[in-house]
Amino acid sequence: MSNSQIPFLPFTKPTIDEATIAAVGEVLRSGWITTGPKNAQLEKTLSDYFGGRPVRCFANGTATMEIALRIAGIGPGDEVITSPISWVSTSNVILTVGAKPVFVDIDPVTRNIDLNLIEQAITPATKAIMPVYLAGLPVDMGYLYRIADKYHLRVIEDAAQALGSSWQGNRIGAASPLRSDLVSFSFQANKNITSIEGGCLVMNTEEEAILASKYRLQGVTRTGLDGMEVDVLGGKHNLTDVNAVIGLHQFAKIVEVTAIRHELAKHYFASFAKTSLVALGLQLPVADFANSNWHMFQVVLPIESLENKGSNRADIMQKMKDQQIGCGLHYPIITQFTLYRELGYDPASTPHAKRVGKAILTLPLFAQMTNADVERVVVSLENALLSALK
Ligand SMILES: *Cc1c(COP(=O)(O)O)cnc(C)c1O
Repeated sequence: MSNSQIPFLPFTKPTIDEATIAAVGEVLRSGWITTGPKNAQLEKTLSDYFGGRPVRCFANGTATMEIALRIAGIGPGDEVITSPISWVSTSNVILTVGAKPVFVDIDPVTRNIDLNLIEQAITPATKAIMPVYLAGLPVDMGYLYRIADKYHLRVIEDAAQALGSSWQGNRIGAASPLRSDLVSFSFQANKNITSIEGGCLVMNTEEEAILASKYRLQGVTRTGLDGMEVDVLGGKHNLTDVNAVIGLHQFAKIVEVTAIRHELAKHYFASFAKTSLVALGLQLPVADFANSNWHMFQVVLPIESLENKGSNRADIMQKMKDQQIGCGLHYPIITQFTLYRELGYDPASTPHAKRVGKAILTLPLFAQMTNADVERVVVSLENALLSALK
């Protein structure tokens, strides 16, 4: 079979069933298509899932994080400690509210912020820590909140990728018995659970939820039949009922979808064990089947060996593409972007993140994949790496 006859395997693909499509039709015919009863139902469903904590939905995960920062009162003059290996929206929203992102290096094994390095980055201006749970793998939540409590810092968890993840048996986003402050999730199309675009924020109090609703829609509070007041500057960040009904149908399958991802990830480990890839210097993700929702299966390439042969990650991605396999890039180090360099940031100050940003590669993982697909990815990666290192 020539390569062009093998179906292309993308790195991810949403699963939208017929019931979801029918439900979208119902919303469109209902006469109420923007934020309404489906949004309220999604918020109630999520609040139940998070142990009764207040939840508000937003148009996307980026708006969710920006509003979390505003609720925490973070603005000009404040510093927020975060990870340089994330989707750039994490630090962009810190800049958007006028605060300063402070990047702490990652742990090269988990690829999440290295909690051991946070305390030395705290200054009198530090107001919050914004950890990112890359690929759905949480940080040590007990340790994170011990640091936050010791220095009286807010925590805004960028849990965009971590819906369905947990820490020691407790859902990420649920407060008890763990501490948890503001937790932001995304329902963007590539996430495990999608509403096409969307996000939600889990909060501590009804006061925070009221503020979230104001920031979501122009700062408006309505009372009675004709009362309207505006006392904060809000934006336009509401989730439509069309998106919300998709989210409801998707969310109903969270347990099933997470279990499928776990099985596929386990099959990746079993398949890698039959190859020479680890001996060649390929780094696999942490084999965590207790906490992670396996949002992604990411490897770190032996980048120094590749560079010695005049090769690099793009070369490997091309060799995978030639074998009809799509890989993702999550993520280049944020501090190498021009916007951040011009603000004075330097990738060299976070060496592990600098290396991982050049070498990390996301392999295909989505619910419709089969074990045979996983095996094809692993064999293709072995072919790609062996030919690049030849
Ligand atoms: C997806 C994602 C976001 C942003 O979510 P959007 O819904 O795309 O705005 C933020 N942080 C991380 C780590 C993400 O993966």
